[in-house]
Amino acid sequence: MGKVADLHVHTNISDSTFSPEKVIELAKLKDLDAIAITDHDTCAAIAPAIRLAKHTGVEIIPGVELTAEFDDDEIHMLGYFIDWQNEAFIKKLKELCRVREERAKEILRRLNEQGMDLQYDELMQIAGPGTGSIGRLHIANFLYRKGKVASIREAFTKYIGNDSSAYVKKFKLSPKEASDMIKAVGGVSVLAHPKTISTETRPLEDTVKMLVDEGVQGIEVYHSDHNKSESSEFKELANEYDLLITGGSDCHGLGKKEVLLGKVKVPYELVEKLRQASRLTI
Ligand code: AMP
Ligand code: ZN
Ligand code: FE
Ligand code: FE
Repeated sequence: MGKVADLHVHTNISDSTFSPEKVIELAKLKDLDAIAITDHDTCAAIAPAIRLAKHTGVEIIPGVELTAEFDDDEIHMLGYFIDWQNEAFIKKLKELCRVREERAKEILRRLNEQGMDLQYDELMQIAGPGTGSIGRLHIANFLYRKGKVASIREAFTKYIGNDSSAYVKKFKLSPKEASDMIKAVGGVSVLAHPKTISTETRPLEDTVKMLVDEGVQGIEVYHSDHNKSESSEFKELANEYDLLITGGSDCHGLGKKEVLLGKVKVPYELVEKLRQASRLTI
Protein backbone atom coordinates (compact mmCIF):
# COMPACT_ATOMS: atom_id res chain seq x y z
CA MET A 1 0.00 0.00 0.00
CA GLY A 2 1.18 3.52 -0.75
CA LYS A 3 1.87 6.11 1.90
CA VAL A 4 -1.15 7.60 3.66
CA ALA A 5 -1.94 10.61 5.83
CA ASP A 6 -4.58 11.88 8.25
CA LEU A 7 -4.71 15.63 7.72
CA HIS A 8 -6.97 16.76 10.57
CA VAL A 9 -5.87 15.90 14.10
CA HIS A 10 -6.29 17.78 17.39
CA THR A 11 -4.23 17.49 20.59
CA ASN A 12 -4.85 18.39 24.21
CA ILE A 13 -3.26 21.78 23.58
CA SER A 14 -6.70 22.53 22.15
CA ASP A 15 -9.73 20.30 22.74
CA SER A 16 -8.59 16.72 22.22
CA THR A 17 -7.95 14.51 25.23
CA PHE A 18 -4.75 13.12 23.65
CA SER A 19 -1.30 14.60 24.20
CA PRO A 20 1.00 15.05 21.18
CA GLU A 21 2.88 11.96 22.40
CA LYS A 22 -0.28 9.85 22.49
CA VAL A 23 -1.34 11.10 19.05
CA ILE A 24 1.99 10.04 17.55
CA GLU A 25 1.93 6.66 19.27
CA LEU A 26 -1.53 6.04 17.85
CA ALA A 27 -0.59 7.33 14.39
CA LYS A 28 2.19 4.76 14.31
CA LEU A 29 -0.21 2.06 15.41
CA LYS A 30 -2.65 3.03 12.66
CA ASP A 31 0.11 2.87 10.03
CA LEU A 32 -0.09 6.53 9.16
CA ASP A 33 2.93 7.96 7.37
CA ALA A 34 1.97 11.56 8.06
CA ILE A 35 -0.43 13.49 10.26
CA ALA A 36 -1.31 17.16 10.26
CA ILE A 37 -1.69 18.70 13.71
CA THR A 38 -4.54 21.17 13.31
CA ASP A 39 -5.43 22.54 16.73
CA HIS A 40 -7.98 25.34 17.10
CA ASP A 41 -6.19 28.71 17.14
CA THR A 42 -2.88 27.40 18.44
CA CYS A 43 0.32 25.87 17.12
CA ALA A 44 1.78 25.11 20.53
CA ALA A 45 1.64 21.34 19.97
CA ILE A 46 3.69 21.40 16.79
CA ALA A 47 7.19 21.80 18.25
CA PRO A 48 6.76 18.95 20.77
CA ALA A 49 5.06 16.80 18.11
CA ILE A 50 7.92 17.22 15.63
CA ARG A 51 10.43 16.44 18.37
CA LEU A 52 8.56 13.37 19.60
CA ALA A 53 7.92 12.04 16.09
CA LYS A 54 11.54 12.28 15.00
CA HIS A 55 12.47 8.61 14.96
CA THR A 56 9.00 7.14 14.60
CA GLY A 57 8.60 7.39 10.83
CA VAL A 58 5.51 9.58 11.29
CA GLU A 59 5.81 12.93 9.55
CA ILE A 60 4.23 15.93 11.27
CA ILE A 61 2.66 18.50 8.98
CA PRO A 62 2.33 21.85 10.74
CA GLY A 63 -1.27 23.04 10.64
CA VAL A 64 -3.95 25.04 12.38
CA GLU A 65 -7.76 25.30 12.37
CA LEU A 66 -9.21 28.80 12.45
CA THR A 67 -12.84 29.84 12.79
CA ALA A 68 -14.34 32.50 10.58
CA GLU A 69 -17.66 34.24 10.73
CA PHE A 70 -19.70 33.97 7.59
CA ASP A 71 -23.27 35.26 7.23
CA ASP A 72 -24.07 34.75 10.90
CA ASP A 73 -22.76 31.23 10.60
CA GLU A 74 -19.29 29.91 11.23
CA ILE A 75 -16.91 28.09 8.98
CA HIS A 76 -13.67 26.40 9.93
CA MET A 77 -10.55 26.98 7.92
CA LEU A 78 -7.55 24.69 7.99
CA GLY A 79 -4.05 25.95 7.31
CA TYR A 80 -1.31 23.57 6.12
CA PHE A 81 2.46 23.90 5.91
CA ILE A 82 2.35 27.12 7.86
CA ASP A 83 5.39 28.80 9.38
CA TRP A 84 4.19 28.09 12.90
CA GLN A 85 7.18 29.89 14.42
CA ASN A 86 6.37 33.26 12.87
CA GLU A 87 6.11 35.76 15.72
CA ALA A 88 3.35 37.93 14.29
CA PHE A 89 1.32 34.80 13.58
CA ILE A 90 1.81 33.47 17.11
CA LYS A 91 0.76 36.83 18.50
CA LYS A 92 -2.47 36.75 16.49
CA LEU A 93 -3.20 33.20 17.64
CA LYS A 94 -2.66 34.26 21.26
CA GLU A 95 -5.17 37.02 20.81
CA LEU A 96 -7.71 34.52 19.42
CA CYS A 97 -7.11 32.29 22.45
CA ARG A 98 -7.60 35.23 24.78
CA VAL A 99 -10.96 35.89 23.10
CA ARG A 100 -11.75 32.20 23.65
CA GLU A 101 -11.13 32.61 27.39
CA GLU A 102 -13.51 35.55 27.62
CA ARG A 103 -16.08 33.69 25.62
CA ALA A 104 -15.81 30.59 27.85
CA LYS A 105 -16.36 32.82 30.90
CA GLU A 106 -19.40 34.37 29.22
CA ILE A 107 -20.81 30.92 28.39
CA LEU A 108 -20.39 29.88 32.05
CA ARG A 109 -22.05 33.13 33.14
CA ARG A 110 -25.05 32.34 30.94
CA LEU A 111 -25.22 28.78 32.24
CA ASN A 112 -25.05 30.08 35.81
CA GLU A 113 -27.90 32.44 35.01
CA GLN A 114 -29.87 29.30 34.25
CA GLY A 115 -29.27 28.07 37.80
CA MET A 116 -25.92 26.33 37.53
CA ASP A 117 -22.86 27.09 39.62
CA LEU A 118 -19.90 26.59 37.30
CA GLN A 119 -16.50 28.12 38.03
CA TYR A 120 -13.94 28.97 35.37
CA ASP A 121 -11.06 27.61 37.49
CA GLU A 122 -12.72 24.22 37.66
CA LEU A 123 -13.31 24.24 33.89
CA MET A 124 -9.59 24.88 33.36
CA GLN A 125 -8.70 22.08 35.76
CA ILE A 126 -10.86 19.64 33.84
CA ALA A 127 -9.55 20.89 30.49
CA GLY A 128 -6.02 20.18 31.73
CA PRO A 129 -3.14 22.44 32.69
CA GLY A 130 -1.58 22.43 29.18
CA THR A 131 -4.69 23.70 27.43
CA GLY A 132 -3.95 26.86 25.50
CA SER A 133 -7.17 27.09 23.56
CA ILE A 134 -10.34 26.67 25.58
CA GLY A 135 -13.46 25.68 23.66
CA ARG A 136 -16.97 24.36 23.75
CA LEU A 137 -15.91 20.73 23.81
CA HIS A 138 -14.21 21.43 27.16
CA ILE A 139 -17.38 23.07 28.44
CA ALA A 140 -19.46 20.13 27.20
CA ASN A 141 -17.18 17.77 29.09
CA PHE A 142 -17.41 19.99 32.18
CA LEU A 143 -21.22 19.88 32.04
CA TYR A 144 -21.09 16.12 31.67
CA ARG A 145 -18.67 15.69 34.58
CA LYS A 146 -20.89 17.89 36.76
CA GLY A 147 -23.87 15.70 35.93
CA LYS A 148 -25.74 18.53 34.18
CA VAL A 149 -26.10 16.54 30.96
CA ALA A 150 -26.15 12.85 30.13
CA SER A 151 -23.84 13.17 27.13
CA ILE A 152 -21.58 15.55 25.23
CA ARG A 153 -24.20 15.65 22.49
CA GLU A 154 -26.84 16.77 24.99
CA ALA A 155 -24.57 19.61 26.14
CA PHE A 156 -24.55 20.93 22.58
CA THR A 157 -28.22 20.41 21.79
CA LYS A 158 -29.42 21.77 25.14
CA TYR A 159 -26.95 24.53 25.98
CA ILE A 160 -23.98 25.38 23.79
CA GLY A 161 -24.78 24.34 20.21
CA ASN A 162 -24.87 27.12 17.61
CA ASP A 163 -28.53 27.97 18.23
CA SER A 164 -28.72 27.18 21.93
CA SER A 165 -29.31 29.30 25.01
CA ALA A 166 -25.75 29.68 26.25
CA TYR A 167 -24.04 29.83 22.86
CA VAL A 168 -21.66 32.72 22.45
CA LYS A 169 -19.93 33.55 19.19
CA LYS A 170 -16.23 34.08 19.47
CA PHE A 171 -14.57 35.41 16.40
CA LYS A 172 -14.46 38.48 14.33
CA LEU A 173 -12.27 36.95 11.59
CA SER A 174 -13.82 37.00 8.13
CA PRO A 175 -13.05 34.10 5.76
CA LYS A 176 -10.67 36.41 3.89
CA GLU A 177 -8.86 37.38 7.09
CA ALA A 178 -8.52 33.74 8.10
CA SER A 179 -7.24 32.75 4.67
CA ASP A 180 -4.86 35.73 4.53
CA MET A 181 -3.54 34.92 7.99
CA ILE A 182 -2.64 31.41 6.81
CA LYS A 183 -1.15 32.57 3.53
CA ALA A 184 0.89 35.28 5.25
CA VAL A 185 2.90 32.49 6.90
CA GLY A 186 3.33 30.53 3.68
CA GLY A 187 0.44 28.14 4.29
CA VAL A 188 -2.39 26.75 2.23
CA SER A 189 -5.95 27.58 3.30
CA VAL A 190 -8.55 24.84 3.13
CA LEU A 191 -12.27 24.89 3.90
CA ALA A 192 -12.85 22.33 6.67
CA HIS A 193 -15.77 19.85 6.83
CA PRO A 194 -18.05 21.59 4.27
CA LYS A 195 -20.90 19.40 5.49
CA THR A 196 -21.33 21.67 8.52
CA ILE A 197 -22.06 24.73 6.38
CA SER A 198 -25.71 25.64 6.40
CA THR A 199 -27.40 25.43 2.99
CA GLU A 200 -30.55 27.14 4.24
CA THR A 201 -29.89 30.49 2.63
CA ARG A 202 -27.76 29.43 -0.35
CA PRO A 203 -26.49 26.27 -2.02
CA LEU A 204 -23.06 25.08 -0.94
CA GLU A 205 -21.66 25.76 -4.39
CA ASP A 206 -22.36 29.50 -4.02
CA THR A 207 -20.64 29.54 -0.63
CA VAL A 208 -17.64 27.72 -2.06
CA LYS A 209 -17.51 30.15 -4.98
CA MET A 210 -17.47 33.10 -2.57
CA LEU A 211 -14.78 31.51 -0.42
CA VAL A 212 -12.62 30.84 -3.48
CA ASP A 213 -12.96 34.51 -4.40
CA GLU A 214 -11.73 35.33 -0.90
CA GLY A 215 -8.63 33.21 -1.37
CA VAL A 216 -9.47 29.70 -0.13
CA GLN A 217 -7.28 27.18 -1.95
CA GLY A 218 -8.64 23.80 -0.94
CA ILE A 219 -11.57 21.82 0.41
CA GLU A 220 -11.69 18.99 2.92
CA VAL A 221 -13.38 16.35 0.79
CA TYR A 222 -12.86 13.43 3.17
CA HIS A 223 -13.86 13.70 6.84
CA SER A 224 -15.21 11.33 9.50
CA ASP A 225 -18.65 12.95 9.21
CA HIS A 226 -18.86 12.76 5.40
CA ASN A 227 -20.47 9.76 3.75
CA LYS A 228 -19.44 8.52 0.31
CA SER A 229 -21.94 10.55 -1.66
CA GLU A 230 -21.14 13.72 0.28
CA SER A 231 -17.45 13.23 -0.36
CA SER A 232 -18.06 12.78 -4.07
CA GLU A 233 -20.19 15.93 -4.12
CA PHE A 234 -17.33 17.86 -2.47
CA LYS A 235 -14.83 16.30 -4.85
CA GLU A 236 -16.82 17.56 -7.81
CA LEU A 237 -16.76 21.04 -6.31
CA ALA A 238 -12.99 20.73 -5.87
CA ASN A 239 -12.59 19.79 -9.51
CA GLU A 240 -14.91 22.50 -10.72
CA TYR A 241 -13.14 25.28 -8.79
CA ASP A 242 -9.64 23.89 -9.14
CA LEU A 243 -9.25 23.38 -5.40
CA LEU A 244 -6.74 21.22 -3.59
CA ILE A 245 -8.28 18.17 -1.95
CA THR A 246 -7.62 17.18 1.65
CA GLY A 247 -9.05 14.72 4.14
CA GLY A 248 -8.74 13.92 7.80
CA SER A 249 -10.42 12.30 10.76
CA ASP A 250 -10.82 15.39 13.00
CA CYS A 251 -9.78 13.17 15.90
CA HIS A 252 -10.41 14.71 19.34
CA GLY A 253 -9.15 11.73 21.35
CA LEU A 254 -11.90 10.54 23.69
CA GLY A 255 -13.74 13.84 23.22
CA LYS A 256 -15.97 12.38 20.52
CA LYS A 257 -18.01 9.17 20.42
CA GLU A 258 -15.00 7.19 19.24
CA VAL A 259 -11.28 7.61 18.72
CA LEU A 260 -11.20 8.75 15.11
CA LEU A 261 -7.47 8.88 14.35
CA GLY A 262 -6.74 7.11 11.06
CA LYS A 263 -10.44 6.66 10.27
CA VAL A 264 -9.79 8.85 7.24
CA LYS A 265 -6.60 8.10 5.32
CA VAL A 266 -5.71 10.03 2.20
CA PRO A 267 -2.98 9.19 -0.30
CA TYR A 268 0.34 10.93 0.37
CA GLU A 269 0.16 12.52 -3.10
CA LEU A 270 -2.30 15.00 -1.63
CA VAL A 271 0.32 15.99 0.95
CA GLU A 272 2.81 16.59 -1.84
CA LYS A 273 0.34 18.82 -3.63
CA LEU A 274 -0.23 20.84 -0.46
CA ARG A 275 3.51 21.13 0.07
CA GLN A 276 4.01 22.38 -3.48
CA ALA A 277 1.24 24.94 -3.06
CA SER A 278 2.78 26.25 0.16
CA ARG A 279 5.78 28.48 0.54
CA LEU A 280 7.23 26.56 3.46
CA THR A 281 10.30 24.60 2.51
CA ILE A 282 10.15 21.51 4.71
P1 AMP B 1 -15.39 25.98 19.53
O1 AMP B 1 -14.21 26.11 18.60
O2 AMP B 1 -15.06 26.30 20.94
O3 AMP B 1 -16.61 26.70 19.03
O4 AMP B 1 -15.77 24.45 19.57
C1 AMP B 1 -15.83 23.70 18.41
C2 AMP B 1 -15.71 22.26 18.78
O5 AMP B 1 -16.96 21.81 19.26
C3 AMP B 1 -15.33 21.39 17.60
O6 AMP B 1 -14.34 20.49 17.99
C4 AMP B 1 -16.57 20.64 17.27
O7 AMP B 1 -16.27 19.35 16.83
C5 AMP B 1 -17.31 20.61 18.58
N1 AMP B 1 -18.75 20.61 18.32
C6 AMP B 1 -19.48 21.57 17.74
N2 AMP B 1 -20.80 21.21 17.69
C7 AMP B 1 -20.85 19.97 18.25
C8 AMP B 1 -21.91 19.03 18.52
N3 AMP B 1 -23.18 19.30 18.18
N4 AMP B 1 -21.59 17.86 19.11
C9 AMP B 1 -20.31 17.58 19.48
N5 AMP B 1 -19.28 18.41 19.26
C10 AMP B 1 -19.55 19.58 18.66
ZN1 ZN C 1 -12.22 20.82 18.25
FE1 FE D 1 -13.74 22.09 12.82
FE1 FE E 1 -11.19 20.12 13.88
